Amino acid sequence: MKFPLDKQTIWDVVVIGGGPAGMMAAGRAAERGRSVLLLEKNPTLGKKLLITGGGRCNVTNDKPEVRTMVEKYKGNSQFLFSAFSQFGVEEALSFFNQRGMPTKVEAEGRVFPVSDTAQSVWNVLAGYMKEYGVCIQTDAGVAGIEAEEGCTRIALKDGSVVCAMSCIVATGGTSRPETGSSGEGFMWLKKLGHTIIDTDVALVPIALKDAWVKKLGGITLEDIKLTPYKDGAKQKAYKGKVLFTHFGISGPTVLNMSREIGEMVHYSDVVLYLDMFPTLDHAALKREIQTLLVAESNKQLKTVLSTLIPSALVVALLGLAVIDGNTPCHSVRSEDRTKLVALFKAIPLHVQGLLGAEKAVVSSGGVALPEVNFKTMESRIVSHLYLVGDVLNIDRPSGGYSLQLCWTTGFVAGDNC
Ligand SMILES: Cc1cc2nc3c(=O)[nH]c(=O)nc-3n(C[C@H](O)[C@H](O)[C@H](O)COP(=O)(O)OP(=O)(O)OC[C@H]3O[C@@H](n4cnc5c(N)ncnc54)[C@H](O)[C@@H]3O)c2cc1C
Repeated sequence: MKFPLDKQTIWDVVVIGGGPAGMMAAGRAAERGRSVLLLEKNPTLGKKLLITGGGRCNVTNDKPEVRTMVEKYKGNSQFLFSAFSQFGVEEALSFFNQRGMPTKVEAEGRVFPVSDTAQSVWNVLAGYMKEYGVCIQTDAGVAGIEAEEGCTRIALKDGSVVCAMSCIVATGGTSRPETGSSGEGFMWLKKLGHTIIDTDVALVPIALKDAWVKKLGGITLEDIKLTPYKDGAKQKAYKGKVLFTHFGISGPTVLNMSREIGEMVHYSDVVLYLDMFPTLDHAALKREIQTLLVAESNKQLKTVLSTLIPSALVVALLGLAVIDGNTPCHSVRSEDRTKLVALFKAIPLHVQGLLGAEKAVVSSGGVALPEVNFKTMESRIVSHLYLVGDVLNIDRPSGGYSLQLCWTTGFVAGDNC
């Protein structure tokens, strides 16, 4: 159903962005009797919400005490206290529980729906908005906003304009742009005078879980290929140089991929497969190794392999493949040659995280916090403009803290607009 998107209709509240923060804000504003229009550029709402927690949605973290909870958002707790005092973990849990979504607590206090599906969370939010009559317009991409005396003018990409007494920007951050969070909101907010802090998921080395890697400190491999697998699914590969260190891997190629890896490892298991011979396929590499072993048939396997790759790596790989490196080349079994070729083409490196404990926190980027009044979520730069969810520059650890920010800031904005 299409709603009138014209300059004549002045909505009490227009929410831009139908992610978790926008849905919560829209529902709460409508519950208070406001006329609310929610604009979402995708054909459906909450695309990212549905993939959270591997599809199970880690709704929040089980820390009902406000002070304990806000301390988890390192460096930001002074801003968050007032918002969390209005709508914290306890309120979020009873919101979902009372709307027919029971929850359970798992390791490290992570709270999930008992149904183990993010769809349950989506259903509660959609039901909340429906109950209080939020008008939802999907396929409605916003091109920009202008603050005018008494109203905010919201221009849509199809040329129409809507006017609102209050406008809530809930367009998300920049991670996973394919879900709709492409950072467009930041452009408008910047034009309106807000400071946008760049995401600083820094270029950092990658720490690995594999103990054997620690013995390789100082070894550099040139012209390799690293292919990340996220929860078993292949991702974009990187080619270049890798440097082994006592904690994992570094070097230009690794630093360049660290931002993506940091994001992936936040929510998924990540394994990097290192191909030491990316220009050769399995068959060609097998032929080369076979030729080498025949040519040097009386020498030990480890000595001959060391002419191809650094000897410390040879020892490590023979250990991984459980092959005796002292075996003379003429006695190496065919299945062991196959195993070695498979390893040379795909050494599994299990990612622990980005280097340093502080890097376990996703640096979000977004609107500078001093520019927002956290009692109401209203902008201190533009009145009647409210900012919620990932639009805000709040660093947080993984474990349900991001979505709790959506519930808290969304509810508080909806309660005050
Ligand atoms: C893979 C993954 C898993 C995650 N798992 C968890 C988890 O289990 N627990 C947790 O706490 N957090 C998790 N997060 C983080 C969480 O998903 C985000 O913090 C949350 O989605 C932010 O909500 P939001 O409403 O602020 O923004 P978003 O969810 O990004 O929604 C923004 C919406 O705005 C719309 N939009 C953008 N621009 C426009 C425009 N110009 N016009 C109209 N609409 C627009 C977008 O299409 C989108 O629908 C995960 C993130 C990822 C990427």
